[in-house]
Amino acid sequence: MPSEAFKREDLFVCRKCGDCCRGYGGTFVDETDIEAIARYMDVDRRQFVTKFCQISGSRPVLAQGANGYCIFWDQLCRIHPVKPRMCKAWPFIASVLIDPHNWDIMAASCPGMRTDVPASVIRDWIEKGLAESA
Ligand code: SF4
Ligand code: SF4
Repeated sequence: MPSEAFKREDLFVCRKCGDCCRGYGGTFVDETDIEAIARYMDVDRRQFVTKFCQISGSRPVLAQGANGYCIFWDQLCRIHPVKPRMCKAWPFIASVLIDPHNWDIMAASCPGMRTDVPASVIRDWIEKGLAESA
């Protein structure tokens, strides 16, 4: 159970700057994501992958627009209700459990993250989020 002294929003509130939506290859989509986004956009899964994804290794990632941002970024996320699970989870992601220092590294490019919070509190909220999404 996360510390009651810190709510989730005490650790992170998105400033909607879009910095994490810029750059190639970061946003993998799994089958669940593809199904949800394709349905939201009213296209079939194959159309979605062909038109809005690129292949990184053997896995689809969201394509990058000419401006260097995710193809769905336009001052805000255009698929917010169904955005990929890794976008929804940010910054409460498993790699921070592996190395808590990753939180500070991520915070260097994400103005919504607080770094003056005990690592144990961050860990508790990440574990809670992972348990809820399992
Ligand atoms: S970098 Fe952080 S604050 Fe900016 S849009 Fe991404 S999650 Fe939100
Ligand atoms: S899907 Fe939305 S939140 Fe995720 S990278 Fe693209 S614009 Fe950003």
